[in-house]
Amino acid sequence: MRLPEHLQASLAAAQEQRLRGYRGRFAPSPTGELHRGNLRTALLSWLAARRRRGEWLLRIDDLDTPRNRAGAEEAILADLLWLGLDWDGPVLRQSRRRGIYASVLSALRRAGLLYPCRCSRRLLADISAPHGGLNVYPGFCREGPHAWGPEQGRLPSWRLRLPPGNLHWREGSSCGGWLDGATAVGDGVLRRADGVVAYHLATAVDELWLGISDVVRGEDLWSSTGAQVAVMQAVGAEPPAYTHVPLWRDANGERLSKRDRSEGLTGLRRGGRDAAAVIGELAASLNLVPAGSRLSARELLASLPAEGPLLPPPQQALRQPPTPGRQQAEV
Ligand code: GLU
Repeated sequence: MRLPEHLQASLAAAQEQRLRGYRGRFAPSPTGELHRGNLRTALLSWLAARRRRGEWLLRIDDLDTPRNRAGAEEAILADLLWLGLDWDGPVLRQSRRRGIYASVLSALRRAGLLYPCRCSRRLLADISAPHGGLNVYPGFCREGPHAWGPEQGRLPSWRLRLPPGNLHWREGSSCGGWLDGATAVGDGVLRRADGVVAYHLATAVDELWLGISDVVRGEDLWSSTGAQVAVMQAVGAEPPAYTHVPLWRDANGERLSKRDRSEGLTGLRRGGRDAAAVIGELAASLNLVPAGSRLSARELLASLPAEGPLLPPPQQALRQPPTPGRQQAEV
């Protein structure tokens, strides 16, 4: 597809910046306090960038306003600074970047790559009920008439028409990540029926237009990567390299939740831990230092080899984890 001149120019500039050096980012949603799994991912993402003398941006993914929690953003910033994880430049907020998302959306729409969808969340949940959980949109509206306006008081959502084939990306130091478009990704919603820009569109646009070279994030986002790479392909741009970090699980094998307040820094501090103890604990959980180590983020950085994979095996060999994605009927 051909992007409008100004978008093409800003994309080209961002892609050039990416070639000049490592540019990573941490992108929390302000939905609650970071738990130790989030903190571990932040640490790894920071280490990966600083080890390459690269930049590390902080982006607040605050588009889904009903899920945002008052004070969460301030708490996230304070926690990162307390741990010594400093970011470059101003804090970026997706809510301030709606203009570029809208421009890319209309370019995709004009190029005929989106189609309106009138399937409700309810309908999609109902048809998937016997099997529990519908991961991929079945394409009901794919060939339908392209009616833009409201019908029964409801506007359509807009989906990306995915071409057949696999979606590939560079993954850590392994041989790469991929997902089958038809069975694992599907035609994702890029603009929700309520007018909100979908997370996949905003995130794909940000990685590209902010010139992000490397994304280090939780492995729960593996399936989202397929949907985001699909958007990047649609605008004709190369995705960044990804490293998906294993999630921190509790003693029962459950993933941590921001709702469990004991898992955040407030709880850890209450238990008597200072920053050196927390960094030691996070790093030990990744086998980067022996258990019981106490050190600052900078000391940890200085102790790492400048080259080679950050994560020792087996994490490094991580492949396609069978985690459900966010492409579930985001109408
Ligand atoms: N903001 C999302 C989250 O916190 C996405 C993060 C990312 O893409 O790294 O789960």
